Amino acid sequence: MAKAPAIRASEVDPFSHDSTAAALERLTALVEAQARTIREYEASVAQSRHIFEAASAAARLGIWECDLASEKLSWSNGTYDLFEIPRGTPLVRERTLGFYESASLKTLQTVRSRALEQRKGFSLDAELLTPKGGRRWIRIHAAIECPGHRPTKIFGIKQDITEEKERIEQLRYLAEVDDMTGLANRNKFRAQLSLMCDSKPAAQPKGALLLIDLDGFKDVNDTLGHMAGDECLKAAAQRLKRVCGNANVVARVGGDEFAVLLDAPFIRTAPHLADRIISALSEPIERLGRRYQIGASVGITVLDGCDGPEAFRRADAALYAAKGSGRGTYRIFRTAGRAG
Ligand code: GH3
Ligand code: MG
Repeated sequence: MAKAPAIRASEVDPFSHDSTAAALERLTALVEAQARTIREYEASVAQSRHIFEAASAAARLGIWECDLASEKLSWSNGTYDLFEIPRGTPLVRERTLGFYESASLKTLQTVRSRALEQRKGFSLDAELLTPKGGRRWIRIHAAIECPGHRPTKIFGIKQDITEEKERIEQLRYLAEVDDMTGLANRNKFRAQLSLMCDSKPAAQPKGALLLIDLDGFKDVNDTLGHMAGDECLKAAAQRLKRVCGNANVVARVGGDEFAVLLDAPFIRTAPHLADRIISALSEPIERLGRRYQIGASVGITVLDGCDGPEAFRRADAALYAAKGSGRGTYRIFRTAGRAG
């Protein structure tokens, strides 16, 4: 950056005309040099700002700041872009809070209040509903300025993490959902069954497990082909979902085998639900212009303190008994060890 020429008071003789002119010349040069320095400084700030805004846009993040006494907000362009609000719009904190999805807003307010009490920053993922109707996930990193006894400012970064959330959701879907039917898969079912079996209090029944196996399903494959079989499985899954509105989980746990988990308040409804499942799955299935007839058998067990694998074994024993007694019916596992 240009350096201003130095001028010392001793060089200016106020009584000499020549020296006054020379001094003026020097002062003018000094002012010009300073103006040049300021211009260069401004250009350098503008360049830094440009780089900052471009980098923020690339990282899809913005800077924000809130003065706690006045609630006055200041946002960088990136933050306006995240909220899909025209850059430079005057900000009213109450209005901007209205762009958070309600569960996220509740969490944000709790976390923010705690952070201010403890004078400690926080990080939080929150969902936005923008004025243009967009849905977006942001990660908020906040720091607190507290020069004395009271916090004066809260500030930080907000970053768009929608794509990261979508990737996680996709992975969760792949890990938990049966691709063909859209029901929960075996992994999800096992995890939920363990969660229910291990829940407190230990002495109370936790719920009920219904295992369902289609009757005569192999015939569809054998006579009409595997694709027709797949169509039958999809239709069966839809019907199960329809009649099991109260279920905690409806899952496909094997080829033509499904499982339903009921929470404790619905244990008594299990036999009635089994009847409804059997009649729903015994209705002829019309798919792609064809008609298929299958049926279903059901094994029921109450989750009364045993672990997940044992509960599955019990429901399977009851299902085996239902198949053995002619199919199209249900059996309940009795703790004496027999299904009845
Ligand atoms: P049961 O009445 O004793 O239950 O006999 P089933 O004819 O229903 O046959 P079973 O339950 O013993 O066997 C299920 C069959 O499901 C075996 C397998 O070939 C078929 N299967 C397994 N997965 C799939 C699939 O994804 N698609 C199709 N189309 N068939 C499948
Ligand atoms: Mg079967």
